[in-house]
Amino acid sequence: MNITIRRFDKRKEPQSIEMSYPLFEGVTLLENLIKIKTTTDPSLSFNGVCRSGVCGSCAVSVNGKAKLACSYKPSDGDVIEPLAYHEVERDLIVDKTKAHKTLKTSYAHLSSIAILENSSKVTVQSDCILCDSCYSACPVMAVNSDFLGPFALTKVYRYTLQSNENKKAIDAIQTSGVWDCTLCGECTLACPQGIDPKMDIMNLRSISVQNGHSDPNFANMSFGDFGFNNF
Ligand code: SF4
Ligand code: SF4
Repeated sequence: MNITIRRFDKRKEPQSIEMSYPLFEGVTLLENLIKIKTTTDPSLSFNGVCRSGVCGSCAVSVNGKAKLACSYKPSDGDVIEPLAYHEVERDLIVDKTKAHKTLKTSYAHLSSIAILENSSKVTVQSDCILCDSCYSACPVMAVNSDFLGPFALTKVYRYTLQSNENKKAIDAIQTSGVWDCTLCGECTLACPQGIDPKMDIMNLRSISVQNGHSDPNFANMSFGDFGFNNF
């Protein structure tokens, strides 16, 4: 029984290669990776710090779905790849800078409120471990790399629940944000923490409408012979 790992080193080869390794049954994927590295292939690179689902650093793609390696137990034939929509540094290690930059950018729009810097003014409570699983599951990222993405929008929603200064936050997510989501729910399915970004985005849409915004796509829709203008 084997697992396949997609390997890549941006310092050497322009293309990734697939390599097969023996499966160690009954233990997590992270323990498999550690065993492979210590017994078979010391060059294999991956992340995994806390080994208990807290740090979010070990998220990878398994058969096309994001999983935390420290909690997923692999099966024969599984294909392990780096998270989608991230630049691959080496093997299963990705650069999360861009994804987290969208989060900081959305917060930067929130003007004087330094949420990420532990502002004493507002603290956004969330169980998010910034694993990026939802981000890599989101199909919008494939066609719109400017999309803020699910975890950034979830954090903005948490913020709106705690702050009386919602308007700036809501204004900041009207472009490449709340209306660009397709509400497919893949982010919610991917989240190991049980967070529901899709529901948070739906709530953000309601709050947006209450603040005078509307879906920009709605203005471009055709209603044919039954359009509103024909009443
Ligand atoms: S519900 Fe929206 S944010 Fe979540 S994965 Fe689908 S498109 Fe992306
Ligand atoms: S919302 Fe869930 S899936 Fe997304 S980064 Fe946070 S913990 Fe990970």
